[in-house]
Amino acid sequence: MGTVPAPLALPVDLRHPRLARGSRSLRFWALAAGALVLAGVAASLVAANVVADDRASNSQLAFENSSREVASTLKLAIQHEQDLVVSAATFMAANPHGSQAQFLAWSSSERALARYPELQGIGFVVIVPAARLPAFIARLTAGRPAGTAPYSVLPAGKRPFYCLGAVGISRIALSASVGLDFCASNTTTLTARDTGLGSYYPVSVGFTTWLGIDTPVYRGGATPSTLQARRRQFVGWLGEAIDPGVILRRALEGHPGIEVSMRYARGASTVVFASDKASHRDASTTIDLRNGWKVTVAGPLPAGGMLGEWSVPLLAIGLSALSLLLGLLLFVLATGRARALQLVEEKTRQLGHQALHDGLTGLPNRALVLDRAEQLLARNRRHPDRVAAALYVDLDGFKTVNDTYGHAAGDRVLTVVGRRLQEGLREHDTVGRLGGDEFVVLLESGAQEASPATVAARLIDELREPIALAGGERSVAISASIGIALGQRETADELLRDADFALYEAKALGKDRYAVFEHRMQAAAQGRAELEADLGKALELDEFFLLYQPIFDLTSQDVLGIEALIRWRHPTRGIVEPDAFIPIAEESGLISAIGRWVLREACRQLAVWQAGGETIGVSVNVSAYQLDRDGLVDDVEQAISESGVDPGSLTLEITETALMHDVDAAARRLAQLKALGVRLAIDDFGTGYSSLAYLRQFPVDALKIDRSFISNLATSSDAAAIIHALVQLGKTLSIETLAEGIEDHDQLRELQREQCDQGQGFLFARPLDANAIEAFLAETRQSPSLDALSRS
Ligand code: C2E
Ligand code: CA
Ligand code: CA
Repeated sequence: MGTVPAPLALPVDLRHPRLARGSRSLRFWALAAGALVLAGVAASLVAANVVADDRASNSQLAFENSSREVASTLKLAIQHEQDLVVSAATFMAANPHGSQAQFLAWSSSERALARYPELQGIGFVVIVPAARLPAFIARLTAGRPAGTAPYSVLPAGKRPFYCLGAVGISRIALSASVGLDFCASNTTTLTARDTGLGSYYPVSVGFTTWLGIDTPVYRGGATPSTLQARRRQFVGWLGEAIDPGVILRRALEGHPGIEVSMRYARGASTVVFASDKASHRDASTTIDLRNGWKVTVAGPLPAGGMLGEWSVPLLAIGLSALSLLLGLLLFVLATGRARALQLVEEKTRQLGHQALHDGLTGLPNRALVLDRAEQLLARNRRHPDRVAAALYVDLDGFKTVNDTYGHAAGDRVLTVVGRRLQEGLREHDTVGRLGGDEFVVLLESGAQEASPATVAARLIDELREPIALAGGERSVAISASIGIALGQRETADELLRDADFALYEAKALGKDRYAVFEHRMQAAAQGRAELEADLGKALELDEFFLLYQPIFDLTSQDVLGIEALIRWRHPTRGIVEPDAFIPIAEESGLISAIGRWVLREACRQLAVWQAGGETIGVSVNVSAYQLDRDGLVDDVEQAISESGVDPGSLTLEITETALMHDVDAAARRLAQLKALGVRLAIDDFGTGYSSLAYLRQFPVDALKIDRSFISNLATSSDAAAIIHALVQLGKTLSIETLAEGIEDHDQLRELQREQCDQGQGFLFARPLDANAIEAFLAETRQSPSLDALSRS
């Protein structure tokens, strides 16, 4: 006992393992998106904080950079001043008694006032003891225009010595008559003489306060190393007045909002200058310029970027918004993906359905039918009291319907048949389509239920109902043959195969009926398989031969021709009739080679007879398979040329159904054959569905009225009517008519009365071998006429 097979599942790879149900996955992705947004907002705040910190340190850095820039501008300015002072001091050291004119020459060569915008005045101050003051004033004022105010020392008063400017230039108009005593209020000047170090101090002139810079000048230029030497060699001070505002303003250019202060501290002297106050003093930095100078820069921290102080909150908001968007995006993409997966699932289901169902009828296809059959057998093993059955249903003449009315009509017929089969069965029975016009029904029946044979008979009945084609004007009648296999089988394949054997039997028995499988059918099928194997060797082994059946003129009683009929001398089976092997030869394709052999052999034999004085022709049967192949025309041409017979003495017999296969292709092929000069006859005429319209397309010479009408003449008035119509059709189209299978005198008389042109049948002669034909032909030449024959 086999195990119960699992129901046929979708192919595993078609199924997506992560297919989620729509709503569940939607909730999941909504949660995921929400989490992403929250995480994003948190991250945004942290990021904004970091950026704020970073920005703060950046702006602190920027501020320090500005401060350093400001300080170094100041330092440079101070260095400039010192350079000027040193230059002037060197000049004065070399010329301690230089005149005002000499000093002016030096200052203009230095372009001092032009190059030093902060410079207000520069001059040389000497110590004038009280005793030498009048001489000093005299020399100083010598050459001054008359009327100039008299020179006076400021502050006035008698002091042991005065420190008075000897030469100098000034940007501001200082009264030349005022001698400012630099030592009167200020001790640093003398201290500078003793230390050799310069001094710095604020100098107030009016409302403005300047920076005074003094540097002692010693004879020879260099600063002597001892105090005595410094006092001995001291010649005076070089002094400068500087407007620090100019330096500060220049240093602050490009650094708005910043305030700066310069502080000089050396020894006791401390000077501080400051720019305007800054609006904010968020930060300040002090830079040591060395040599006693310190610069302090203060001001607001520079705000970063275009957004200024709003940038950080805006950044936080922006990043949060971005996370929200990302969350939305995730949601949309993920649910979009879920939707895509859903689509995939649907498509997969669809494909799965397509993989297991027939596209036209929607019925289970072969794969699913086999699976259901396995299940049927498995169930039947557990319930042996019930009968399992497979019904193999095949439509009779479906191909003709398809060829005659087109594929749309064929599809329509198949669809209706599928529906009728389904409607004729119970829910749990299976109806499937194996392809083409082959259907399968699987069913089980208990003792109380209709037997499979009864079901088959009912289905055949229902299928006989005409099927209306599209438009409803035309309808086609179709019948079906059914093969039935009952009971247990090892496999589903076996069950269906046996049903197919039974179908073959039902067809062979005349179609439109059912047959139940019996073992002998399998034996027959096996016989057919063996026959096919033997057939492959038959040509080589020269096992075929031809019989010939004479064809008579029904009026003149002359033998007009002979139909060649093939036989197979099988090594063990004896003589095999063509009906037993021609279909197999057609299925296997062997018919081409066999047909070629028949054509050559028939023509060869005809040539022999014609050479012997006979005036007959020969008829050769051509199968539908041969007609469909290009080789036929060549084969016919070769047989004619090889034998040398007149093409007009060769008639090719083609069955009506073979022509109706594909009417246009058949018409083309017939035209090709006709062009060779051969005669054409339509065999088994009246059984197909050809109409007058089709017939006109075929260049045929004769219609061979099917044997069934002749044999039915006595019993069926329809047969007589059809024969009458066919003969009249032939006359209308000027095509000869030939009645085959004439077995008795009544049939012959009736055909003569209908004025059928020719006849063939056992009444005249059975198919005979070549020798017998020669004897027959010799005999008929001397023997009584057909009339005598028919009268006897
Ligand atoms: P068919 O072309 O219709 O040939 C006529 C058949 O009717 C022959 O059967 C012949 O023996 C038989 N017959 C002739 N007169 C009578 C009669 O009075 N009564 C009855 N009952 N039968 C009669 P056969 O020779 O068995 O051939 C059967 C079929 O095999 C042929 O039918 C033809 O379709 C096919 N066939 C025969 N030879 C060839 C061949 O060489 N090539 C092809 N493709 N098919 C062939
Ligand atoms: Ca024939
Ligand atoms: Ca025939």
